[in-house]
Amino acid sequence: MDKLQAFCRELRKRKRTVKDIEPRTWSEDDLLEGKLTKAFVFILKTRGCFWAHHSGCTMCGYFNDSIPDIKEEDIKRQVEIALQRYQGEKIVKIFTSGSFLDEREVPAAMQKKILEKFFENAERVIIESRPEFINNLDKISEVVKNKTLEVAMGLESANDRVLKHSINKGFTFSQWRDAAKGVIDRNMELKTYILVKPPFLTEAEAIKDALHSARKVSDISDTLSFNPVAIHANTLVEYLWNRKLYRPPWLWSVAEILEGVAEFFDGQIKCDVVAGGSRRGAHNCRKCDSAFLKAVEDFTLHHEKDAFKNLKCECREEWLDLIEIEGFIKG
Ligand code: SF4
Ligand SMILES: [Zn+2]
Repeated sequence: MDKLQAFCRELRKRKRTVKDIEPRTWSEDDLLEGKLTKAFVFILKTRGCFWAHHSGCTMCGYFNDSIPDIKEEDIKRQVEIALQRYQGEKIVKIFTSGSFLDEREVPAAMQKKILEKFFENAERVIIESRPEFINNLDKISEVVKNKTLEVAMGLESANDRVLKHSINKGFTFSQWRDAAKGVIDRNMELKTYILVKPPFLTEAEAIKDALHSARKVSDISDTLSFNPVAIHANTLVEYLWNRKLYRPPWLWSVAEILEGVAEFFDGQIKCDVVAGGSRRGAHNCRKCDSAFLKAVEDFTLHHEKDAFKNLKCECREEWLDLIEIEGFIKG
């Protein structure tokens, strides 16, 4: 374990104990074959991401909601509750804040049962996994046959230096790419998460890194999903932010990335701006934040490719200055 990993691990010790094992569920808008539809989101609490138990990604605070000693019957109960709340939405997203395909989080038999149940009504089910567990897709292939299973895999950055020193992702780009090929070879769809503004990158470097990463995976991904960093509790990013050594990305940067990617990527582009407009999330000057957040939604959900074109605000100058000055300081 290197120093960065040891420090991330140390910060995680501040996690509070979670006792509430109710699953979180809600319904939201999404796109199915280009048309607006409803998606059912099911956050299944598990023991949490194995990588977070080791040291974890520098921006990820999902471990705060995991229950390390959770029992199998608690998982079962959450599934039953979610199924009761499920209203037949065409898309179902099952997120464990880790890897659905990791049998330590969700036992293989349970993975099958959950998918079977939701596929009775859903046309598309989306799960998340780290690359290490992609071969486990073979164990659920029977259930998924003739259905659309979308596997969402966080890449964050295609730059190995950023993966190791900014994110502590625990894998290299080529390892991720091999697993991504495994998803495609099994006739499943691939959603790739790309992080917007990992720590230790300037604003300009962050824009470049997101665009470069998108290019490197545009041939293999059905969907590119951009995640502007939000400040989660007990993470390295929060530690830096508290000391004014990190600011979440500007929404100007997010707009530039989304517009840039649309020039070379034909698949679906998504962007979930968690805590957008607040100090802990991607933001501009406050005055224009809500207009930008609406434009992100129009751009990603309603295919309005010109959504950002008419946005004006005096904070653009500040953003441009920052891009110039940061580059000058870093030399
Ligand atoms: S970002 Fe994903 S892989 Fe990294 S610690 Fe969080 S859940 Fe695990
Ligand atoms: Zn502004």
